[in-house]
Amino acid sequence: MASAQPARGTRTDKRTDRTWTADRLRSAVHDVVTAHDPATTDPVEFLGALFDAGLAWVHFPPGHGGLSAPRALQSVVDDELTAAGAPPRAPGLHTIGLGMAAPVLLAFGDEAQKKRFLRPLFTRREVWCQLFSEPGAGSDLAALATRAERDEATGDWVVNGQKVWTSVAHEAHWGLLVARTGPELPKHQGLSYFLVDMRAPGVEVRPLRQATGEAEFNEVFLTDVRIPDTHRVGAVGDGWKVASGTLMNERVAIGAGAMPREGGLAGGLARLWRERPELRTSGLHSSVVRAWVDAEALRLTAERLRQQLAAGQPGPEGSAAKIAFAGLNQRMSGLALDLLGEEGLGYDDWTFRRPEPDDDFSTRSFGFFYLRTKGNSIEGGTTEILRNVIAERVLGLPPEPRSDKTIPWKDLPR
Ligand SMILES: Cc1cc2nc3c(=O)[nH]c(=O)nc-3n(C[C@H](O)[C@H](O)[C@H](O)COP(=O)(O)OP(=O)(O)OC[C@H]3O[C@@H](n4cnc5c(N)ncnc54)[C@H](O)[C@@H]3O)c2cc1C
Repeated sequence: MASAQPARGTRTDKRTDRTWTADRLRSAVHDVVTAHDPATTDPVEFLGALFDAGLAWVHFPPGHGGLSAPRALQSVVDDELTAAGAPPRAPGLHTIGLGMAAPVLLAFGDEAQKKRFLRPLFTRREVWCQLFSEPGAGSDLAALATRAERDEATGDWVVNGQKVWTSVAHEAHWGLLVARTGPELPKHQGLSYFLVDMRAPGVEVRPLRQATGEAEFNEVFLTDVRIPDTHRVGAVGDGWKVASGTLMNERVAIGAGAMPREGGLAGGLARLWRERPELRTSGLHSSVVRAWVDAEALRLTAERLRQQLAAGQPGPEGSAAKIAFAGLNQRMSGLALDLLGEEGLGYDDWTFRRPEPDDDFSTRSFGFFYLRTKGNSIEGGTTEILRNVIAERVLGLPPEPRSDKTIPWKDLPR
């Protein structure tokens, strides 16, 4: 295995300062909003002040946007900020930065990487994307073929290959990249993890249009792209471990995001039911109630999951939240169309659009959501694959037979 080099910064800082209480945090938020009135302060400046005060992620270490406080206290900070009229934590284009890059840098990045990337990520100066999937390597991610070869003269890595379905790559400054550095090793062992500058020479981003007519995602072609070794995350050959950490965070980010009661599609469906009695048919009543109850159960489960993430690294349990979220979204958008009848089928906006940083998705029609939620059971791992994860890693059932685990990647049929 090519991982002879020492792992850099691969331990999560689990020390927690228990002296931080809800009251102390409320007063810390009060100090920030007094010095930087959210109504008049530029959002980037406001978020910067929040980061510097350690209120970005309270469980992160001091100096990296946190206070090493218990993670469960983050909700105290968030509630206080909402009450003070602070800009909402609406990730939009920043889902990958906030939901995946930040926790992965915290767990696996070295000090220099944390210092360089965490603040601009949190203040939303820099957008991130995830360069994992490839044609021929989606669910079977460890089969990926994008190569990173060491230039012995400079120590840089030279990357060649193609990625696909890369959400927001066209806006991104940085990408989370998994590439093959050891083709002579079995497929899970020969991978390494990098941070790639999306504006570097050799990075070409081409839009892919999806069922809604929009182009959220892209094909990304990488031709002789140079990445300095300082932008490698974890040891050479440890890419699978870092990628698995990213995927578990992704499932929590997609399936267990903070949501108020009647937030998202559940709120839209409930409003439609209450405000438009003329649309109701008797058969739909129990389906709407059932969906509302399931949405509330999922919201509370997600809250419990977030509070359980005491060590900062989610486990395979996040897969269940992601499966439930995807199925429920598809059911709720379908129910809304059943209610609306012909009116609901009126979605016909096929304008080629790119999502904007301040796009408000909550204003979109149910016709749009009906199409967009189909992707929920594919993005971040398909429902079938997540069922495998739950079967093997949560329930301890026998694993799927995999004959290719020990064969060198270069000898696998492709
Ligand atoms: C809206 C959207 C956004 C996305 N954004 C990104 C992104 O930003 N970055 C990125 O890297 N990727 C992204 N993806 C890609 C996504 O992660 C992949 O599409 C996904 O992992 C599935 O891979 P695949 O498309 O190659 O399907 P395949 O792996 O070819 O799977 C095809 C079907 O076979 C099933 N299947 C495969 N293997 C098994 C098995 N062992 N057991 C049971 N069933 C199996 C799958 O579940 C699926 O139903 C995005 C996808 C969507 C839809």
